[in-house]
Amino acid sequence: DLSNAVMAQDEMGRPLIIVRDQGTKQRAHGIEAVKSHILAAKSVASIVRTSLGPRGMDKILISQDGDITVTNDGATILSQMQVENQIAKLLVELSRSQDEEIGDGTTGVVVLAGALLEQAYELIDRGIHPIRIANGYEDACQVAIKELDRIADEVPLDSDNANLLRAARTSLGSKVVSESKDLYAQIAVDAVLGVADRERKDVDFELIKVMGKTGGSLRDSVLVKGVIIDKEMSHPQMPRTVEDAKIAILTCPFEPPKPKTKHKLDITSVEEFKKLQEYEQETFRGMVQRIKDSGANFVVCQWGFDDEANHLLLQNKLPAIRWVGGPEIELLAMATQGRIVARFEDLNADKLGEAGSIRELEFGTTQDRMIVVENCANPRTVSILVRGSNDMIVEEAKRALHDSLCVVRNLVRDNRVVYGGGAAEIAASLAVSDEADQHAGIDQYAYRAFAKALDSIPLTLAENSGMNAIEALSDVKSKQVTSKMSQLGIDCLGSGSNDMKKLFVIDPLIGKRQQFLLATQLTRMILKINTVIVSGEPSE
Ligand code: ADP
Repeated sequence: DLSNAVMAQDEMGRPLIIVRDQGTKQRAHGIEAVKSHILAAKSVASIVRTSLGPRGMDKILISQDGDITVTNDGATILSQMQVENQIAKLLVELSRSQDEEIGDGTTGVVVLAGALLEQAYELIDRGIHPIRIANGYEDACQVAIKELDRIADEVPLDSDNANLLRAARTSLGSKVVSESKDLYAQIAVDAVLGVADRERKDVDFELIKVMGKTGGSLRDSVLVKGVIIDKEMSHPQMPRTVEDAKIAILTCPFEPPKPKTKHKLDITSVEEFKKLQEYEQETFRGMVQRIKDSGANFVVCQWGFDDEANHLLLQNKLPAIRWVGGPEIELLAMATQGRIVARFEDLNADKLGEAGSIRELEFGTTQDRMIVVENCANPRTVSILVRGSNDMIVEEAKRALHDSLCVVRNLVRDNRVVYGGGAAEIAASLAVSDEADQHAGIDQYAYRAFAKALDSIPLTLAENSGMNAIEALSDVKSKQVTSKMSQLGIDCLGSGSNDMKKLFVIDPLIGKRQQFLLATQLTRMILKINTVIVSGEPSE
């Protein structure tokens, strides 16, 4: 019975999965336990299955406090699902590891694992021992990976970056941002190349800061070679731009020292009050002078300052921004190679950050303004500002952008690719089937099961695109066999061609290898677990 896991909704309409117990009083052990684990894992896989591919469906996720996420990203769906079952949690981990190492293929890896488990279930039903299957899968996976290496192709990376752009664009095809995909692809390529060390084929994502702000539309998203700070000039009359900026980055309060309350302050006359005021003004003037003396022409302050102080800054032609958050201060210091000044007395010329220009960015459609610091002393910092009409869209756009950043980064690191649309899986499946023919006896079953599981990727892609899936798969498969062209896959978008090389539907070789390895590893692990002990309480 494959239906012991059901999707249900709680009283608030939030989706949840109920994995029914085996129904018997006794806890399942041995083979029965393995079978129930497979069902639990499969039920998770079946949820993300419909999200695979360019025609995959989006999912709405509602968190416990009512926040809504719309996504078709496997890792996101799984990470937000409340999964209680220990085995099902392993699948959540699976998509996370794929996400962390490659950043792409997070749905595919879960679908593949689900299919491997489903095939294993059938073999177990036919009396083959789980350990035997696990070992057969491992061998089959080696064959599949060898085939991936054999069919891998190199994407030429010319100076015009056309292929990087194409790759980024394809990765955005199925996402919320698809209508602005040219813009997003350009942003992704510029961002990665902006921070990439092409000699060492190294891309440091730490240097790419992606921020989102609700308002405007996706088309208003921008990339800045530098730092964006979500603040405006502290006074509306301050200049909107500063060239050759020398920046004082202050984390100390920018105000005269306040009289400490423990010293009693006796103000008995108007004169004394005036004196105090004068003293405050005097100290403040001294501070402003100190900034001027250091050579700074722009002030960034983590704290606020009052109107009077603001006015003095204006008079002294010192544009400033206040209430800048800690992380932004750090980023700014890193990019402009300035030092964060925590004690006012320490401010001097050596501490200043440098940037070619600072300007206030205005958004046509909204009143918002932001500060943009460009041509920084350290040119390898880029910021991306994602805009969208609501939080949900901004968040999903950020995820889509992250995916395409990963795609571009992966290509810059290693330009070997295999073709998508299930083409690589079909080629690998054929190779594994061939290998099965070389084996007599029981071992061949695991090979054939593995080959079938690989087929489930093109099958799912076809299914999600509304095709007759079995027909579509056997059609492409026989074409691959007769033409020996491993780049033939499922034409999900109805472009009229199965040639994924022509359509430029590619997957990085390392990403595809990783998918096969991780899915196989996980399946082997589940096949070998016959008891789950939750620490503290005896369980399944
Ligand atoms: P993942 O999270 O695994 O990356 P996606 O939903 O992004 O999942 O789907 C990726 C799958 O869709 C890959 O197998 C990829 O080859 C395939 N794919 C993407 N675009 C196309 C296309 N235009 N035609 C056919 N297959 C495509």
